[in-house]
Amino acid sequence: MVCPNLETCPFINNSDEKLKDDIIKYKSKFCNADYEKCARFILSNTTVEVPIDLAPDEIKRLERLMKT
Ligand code: SF4
Repeated sequence: MVCPNLETCPFINNSDEKLKDDIIKYKSKFCNADYEKCARFILSNTTVEVPIDLAPDEIKRLERLMKT
């Protein structure tokens, strides 16, 4: 299943060339597959603001943000 946030997600739609390879990997691992495990997707379903640079696999950071 494809993430419903794919078209609007600022992290994945970032045009920074330095992040290009990481974005391809994240898309294949999260956005086009296990998006329910993405830290950004999980946080987007709470009232906590999603930091622009939060990566899909930053689960520890997600946990800290959810405690604030
Ligand atoms: S990074 Fe996460 S929230 Fe953004 S499109 Fe991919 S799966 Fe969805």
